[in-house]
Amino acid sequence: MKPKIGIYGLSGCWGEQINILNCEDELLDIVGAVDIVDFLGGSSVNDTESRLAIAFVEGSVANAREEKELQHIRNRSDLLVACGSCACFGGVGAMDAQVSRPELIKQVYGNNGPAKSWDIGPHKPLSEFVKVDLAIPGCPMESKAFVKAVSSLLNGDVPLLPTYPVCLECKMKEYDCLLVSRGLPCAGPVTVAGCGARCPGYNVACIGCHGPVDEANMGSIEKIFEQKELPMDQIKLKLRTFAAPVLDKERE
Ligand code: SF4
Ligand code: SF4
Repeated sequence: MKPKIGIYGLSGCWGEQINILNCEDELLDIVGAVDIVDFLGGSSVNDTESRLAIAFVEGSVANAREEKELQHIRNRSDLLVACGSCACFGGVGAMDAQVSRPELIKQVYGNNGPAKSWDIGPHKPLSEFVKVDLAIPGCPMESKAFVKAVSSLLNGDVPLLPTYPVCLECKMKEYDCLLVSRGLPCAGPVTVAGCGARCPGYNVACIGCHGPVDEANMGSIEKIFEQKELPMDQIKLKLRTFAAPVLDKERE
């Protein structure tokens, strides 16, 4: 019998599920190796109860219903993988975590907002609620990282994901540095790699969508920003867009 897997989306844009479906060259091999039994984004017929070898979960947790759903997924799965920056760090939905929901509604709608706020709190990463066995960041997660995770986990291994910054990939591709050469506010030095330095490859500064790299050298990037007369807030705001709960925790 093939191992069963499930693919889920909580609060997010479903970008990871689209990227999984975009694994066109590998998809037939994947469905040959596993039974995808529960995947609302790919099938209307789903088995929502049986035991799973691996659950892939994208999106952040925004309310009690999603917390319950995540707990149910965790309880029925041997391994749980957080897919994408929302699941790993809270993502875009968490960038405003420090502002109360009524205040946010007021900022967006002024005095014409709904009288009663919805059942939505600040979005939180999966690890705040359940054990996460593997975290694959990215907004969205790279398709190749999903394929690597499936093959490694099925073989009892943990995939080796990058722990170095985007700059390393950028240098390996011999791109001209947008920060040093052109004075653009690039978050590459403090962002974890995995995208192949996609944005600098198009002459666009990195906005940090893969989340902060471990032990980011903020001192060094601050110095370069000072030399270039760039406001350091730009990098902080970029990183907050994808990983505010993690940065807030580091500050505590
Ligand atoms: S362009 Fe950005 S990612 Fe590339 S080396 Fe410069 S700072 Fe790093
Ligand atoms: S270069 Fe930065 S913003 Fe662009 S895909 Fe990579 S991590 Fe995301």
